Amino acid sequence: MVSHTLSKIFTRSRFTVCDTCHDIKSKLEKTTNKMERKELHQRREKHLRQQNAERSKYYKLIRKAKSQPDQYLSIILDGMDQEKTRLPHLPTTPKSLSNAWKVQFNLMGAIAHGIGIYGFFDPFQWSHGGNYTISILCSIFGMLDSLPEVLYLQLDNCPGANKNRFVIGFLALLVQAGIFKKIKLSFLMVGHTHEDIDQLFSRFSTNVRDKMIMTLDSLMQCFERCYRPTPTAIRTTSVWNWSETMDINSIRNHSRPHLFKFVKDDNGTAIYFKKWSTDQEWTKCEGYLLKCDTVKKCSRMPLIPPCCEKVDEKVTTDTFSICKFYDDEVSGQWWADFFQDLKEQEDREYNADDIISSLKAKALHEQINQQPAAQQEEKEDEIAPVIIGQAPKKKPTRNLQTNDMVLVDTVRYADEWPQVASVLKIEETSVTVQWFKGAKTSQWTPASRRIPGKRGKTEAFTETISKSVIWYGGFSLTPGGLLPKHARDALDQYFDD
Ligand SMILES: [Zn+2]
Repeated sequence: MVSHTLSKIFTRSRFTVCDTCHDIKSKLEKTTNKMERKELHQRREKHLRQQNAERSKYYKLIRKAKSQPDQYLSIILDGMDQEKTRLPHLPTTPKSLSNAWKVQFNLMGAIAHGIGIYGFFDPFQWSHGGNYTISILCSIFGMLDSLPEVLYLQLDNCPGANKNRFVIGFLALLVQAGIFKKIKLSFLMVGHTHEDIDQLFSRFSTNVRDKMIMTLDSLMQCFERCYRPTPTAIRTTSVWNWSETMDINSIRNHSRPHLFKFVKDDNGTAIYFKKWSTDQEWTKCEGYLLKCDTVKKCSRMPLIPPCCEKVDEKVTTDTFSICKFYDDEVSGQWWADFFQDLKEQEDREYNADDIISSLKAKALHEQINQQPAAQQEEKEDEIAPVIIGQAPKKKPTRNLQTNDMVLVDTVRYADEWPQVASVLKIEETSVTVQWFKGAKTSQWTPASRRIPGKRGKTEAFTETISKSVIWYGGFSLTPGGLLPKHARDALDQYFDD
């Protein structure tokens, strides 16, 4: 069981000033000596040049990933401060509600450059250490259709959540397992602006500030409307226990370098580091972080059960009071369902997922390697057709199989959208399905229904439907239970076609 202590919860303030900047500033305030001041000004200039160099390096990687997405994937991941994500959010607080407890949500933002912008929301159901960071990354990978050879990852320079041996070990594991061939990890300078992701957060804050936002659904909608291209808001539902499953050696002195590189050599996955991206030479770490059987051990990755300790009675009572004050029954009901669902989530049974295998299946270079040799040779002689305009969208074309997930459009459930089910049995013109419940960007779980006449008892919600109402089929949910990117794209397009 993972417990929440206040110190563990991620609370970096945007107003934290970088140590170097702070040090120079306070020394400048104390001295009038000309020589000393000149030296300090020079030191500050050098520091800002360094910061600028890191920034331009970052934008160079983004351009590379955007122009060659089949070779490079660039992701920046960062947490937002929490002032704006306490719900219900009121633009002005009436006196009688000034002491009301609210539900605190966490927002972890991610930009996969040229691919998508994501916001992961949860009411602090997990502590936000390495497991949380790693799991958010897995959820992002899971939503992408494919993974190229090289990953560029930018993280906040925060030892608790990011700069620890588990996150570093996980990246080594991705290379060891053959999911990426090379990974470069850079840590952003603390106290300086974090570029595009800060811009996203600041737009979101501005957007939220003067609005009355009663529920998480409204907050997530706000997030999706605050930026172009349209971000995707996701309820965090899966955090896996990587830290206890991975078998890794200890590591020391890893807090100083700002860059790490992971590549395989003859003996395993080697880790290189350098202090700044402008430094010429990489230094190879002595020894290997991963123990030899760790990839195998990770083939069953247990989920960490969510905990809703933070949402206690005073929080729930006050939330209902706020809804009542505004005479907002709809939001009151929304919260009642939400609190009920949090409790059910705690009681649910949690299994393990084979994340490594499902990510490996997405690795582009793995797919090429798996083609028979003859076919590969043939491919080399051919030249790729010149395509003008957008590439045709990939649709799963294989025949339907049992356990496949399908998207359905049946009039009977016209109010429910999207309609998602898994295939239990296939007949000539009909299919028996298990209905799923969820939302476009949240976790999907098998639905159940009440048994008529038996109070309170439920059964699996299965039904036989005509094959003709299945309009998209043959996919699996991501390890976190989300719809894969191609299925969500298909949903977006469905009514346009
Ligand atoms: Zn600074």
